[in-house]
Amino acid sequence: MPSQPFFEQEKICPVCEKKFKVTRVRSSACVVIRRDTDFYIKYKDINPNYYSIWVCPHCHYAALDKKFSGPLSDGEKKRLAKTLALLHREEPDLSGIRDADKAFRAVELAVQTAQIIRASHASLASLYLMGAWFARDKGDKELEQKYLEQARDHYTSSYERETLHEKISDVRLMYIIGELNRRTGRLREAINWFSRVVRHPDIKREPEIERLARDQWELAREELHRCTVSSTDSPVPAEEEKAPAATGEKTEAGIPFSEPACRRTKTVYSFTLYRDQVEWLQKLSEDNAAIGKDAVLRALLDAVKEIAEPQLMVKKAASENEFKELISTILKHSTNS
Ligand SMILES: [Zn+2]
Repeated sequence: MPSQPFFEQEKICPVCEKKFKVTRVRSSACVVIRRDTDFYIKYKDINPNYYSIWVCPHCHYAALDKKFSGPLSDGEKKRLAKTLALLHREEPDLSGIRDADKAFRAVELAVQTAQIIRASHASLASLYLMGAWFARDKGDKELEQKYLEQARDHYTSSYERETLHEKISDVRLMYIIGELNRRTGRLREAINWFSRVVRHPDIKREPEIERLARDQWELAREELHRCTVSSTDSPVPAEEEKAPAATGEKTEAGIPFSEPACRRTKTVYSFTLYRDQVEWLQKLSEDNAAIGKDAVLRALLDAVKEIAEPQLMVKKAASENEFKELISTILKHSTNS
């Protein structure tokens, strides 16, 4: 009989010294569905990362499992006890099974603890990155961006000011700074970091990072090109399709590169459809006259992308019909579950 995926362990809080239970996950229960380029991993049912921050239910001291017991100096323990008591408020029950919301709250509490003890930029960066992953699971894009930006800034400060990078190699650290710049719309900085990664003397020791850096470098260049095209010589888009005015930094050419709109620039794309598909699309857009044909098609693509993408990433079809069957099965399964 297979063992249970979860088990409990008793821990002692290093701050208030009270006992409490943490939930742990057996690695055999975790199935990876996809990996993102910022090291996010999508799991099938159980996400072990949701349980990697332990939170004392008595005083709300929170830290990654590996760092939970310290080392904490007596001064840090006193400062934690005093400040956590001041900040104390009702918290959700973070013991037992956690969803993305609870996992995210655990990250917020771990960030709070890290700030009180003035933890390193590297520690804060890894917590913020984890928060961004959980915000992605929650489907909260705004929150995800906020956490990605914090992770970007703390990783950059760590690279510039800290000599010990907490088990992360220089190559990996530079890569993640590049990717976080790309994901937060700073495309020129991203390109600069990726080019430094592939020129690093240690790069051959980390072939996976080299491959990722080359792929993301190419992607960042394409994204920058699309931003440049859309803000200069492209056909003028419809009024509602214009990118919002730049609020962030500008390049020498005056091209904005820090607003999220750059990451989703619209482009004219030409392809052929069957006549009945065009008729169906026209019918749908007549029924939804407020948004138009293009918007209907985009919404359909986005919905399929959102529901079916994780599974489409691991399954391949050999023909158009097979691909249709694949998507139908995924969508049916998703509607039934
Ligand atoms: Zn405690």
